[in-house]
Amino acid sequence: MKLSLSKIVDGCRLGTLTNLSRKGVQSMDIPGCLLYTRMGSAPHLTHDTLQTVKGVPVVAQLSLSTLADLHEVLAEYKEGAAKFIGMAESVLYCSLHDPVICSPPGYNNNKTVSIWGCGGRIEMTASKFMTIQQVIQPDWFQCLSDGDTIAGEISKKRAKKSVDRSLSFLDECLQLQEELPGLQKSLIIGVIEGGDVLEERLRSAKETAKRPVAGFILDGFQGSAMTKETKLQLLSSVTAELPEEKPRLIHGIGRPDEVLECVERGVDIFDSCFPYQVTERGCALFFNYNYQPDPETEVIQENGQTDVRKEDDEKSENVTPSGPQEMTHFEICLKEKRYQDDFGPLVKGCSCYCCQNHSCAYIHHLLVTNELLAGVLLMTHNFQHYFGFFCSIRDALKENKLDQLKKSVNSQAL
Ligand SMILES: [Zn+2]
Repeated sequence: MKLSLSKIVDGCRLGTLTNLSRKGVQSMDIPGCLLYTRMGSAPHLTHDTLQTVKGVPVVAQLSLSTLADLHEVLAEYKEGAAKFIGMAESVLYCSLHDPVICSPPGYNNNKTVSIWGCGGRIEMTASKFMTIQQVIQPDWFQCLSDGDTIAGEISKKRAKKSVDRSLSFLDECLQLQEELPGLQKSLIIGVIEGGDVLEERLRSAKETAKRPVAGFILDGFQGSAMTKETKLQLLSSVTAELPEEKPRLIHGIGRPDEVLECVERGVDIFDSCFPYQVTERGCALFFNYNYQPDPETEVIQENGQTDVRKEDDEKSENVTPSGPQEMTHFEICLKEKRYQDDFGPLVKGCSCYCCQNHSCAYIHHLLVTNELLAGVLLMTHNFQHYFGFFCSIRDALKENKLDQLKKSVNSQAL
């Protein structure tokens, strides 16, 4: 994997990652996102319906927690997870946990990290972890690490332990990789831990950067245990310690305003579980990422904006912007009765399959009658809207207009 940075503006990195896969062909622009999958398929969508979505990321994210139960079958299959799930041409990245699912705290120790599969808890030693990775055959994978620092306040001692254990797992995995022929072409992404303790975060960054990893995951920033200020300060300090030529990933950060804050602090790659979470609550993404409004369409957009404000006022008591499970100001809830006779698309001017062919009223009907098609259509729109947002971030960076984009996005982030 090779990262070519074309521009760095005020900490934001614009560039292209090439030689992504074991086959070495695909490339990806950063800042960008991964395709969130569950068991290898985009939620609600078949391979064919996913093709209707514009801007689908080239790298698909799978989680070890959903694949671990399957490792014996994959070992027998021998040809790797990508072919098994029917995505032989995709670049596969295997993360340790599913970013949507919170793992119970308190189960990691010096020798093992617990992940939670369909059948319950699975204890991973470095050796078991690498054996399973060998049968999955991912292009990239998150190294085994102790990221159990998310729930509530953690002590300095616990933060130190998370760094020590993660470095020790990394060394063990790097050594095992040399002995496993099936993993020679897979890239290990090192994990930066340390909770909210700056000193430990810096040690984790410096030490991980000394090892031959392909990139870095900034772990433990999901959830609401840390204040926003602490999170952003830590991110700035950590990325300053990392080599420029390797990509930085983050999991569980998906709100558009938070994505932009991370991009400004040198983060390159995000996951796309946010549009999935929005879909699961019967909502559609509805935020403006146009940073240079066309004067002719501006009036329409302003009208749209007014609609959102009106709706926000009506349901302000139910909205808690910080929790991933709660509705945010970047979406509209199609279950609400107000959409029963709204025959317009989810977002005016959206070119997705759902908005081109169906109305809010129809989606409302599908949701209240519990039809599975509701999830399919909402996922189509939400993915395309979200991937379009990342394209807009890159374009805005190219044109030095990130401030305008931020203004546009933050005007909705109340
Ligand atoms: Zn749409």
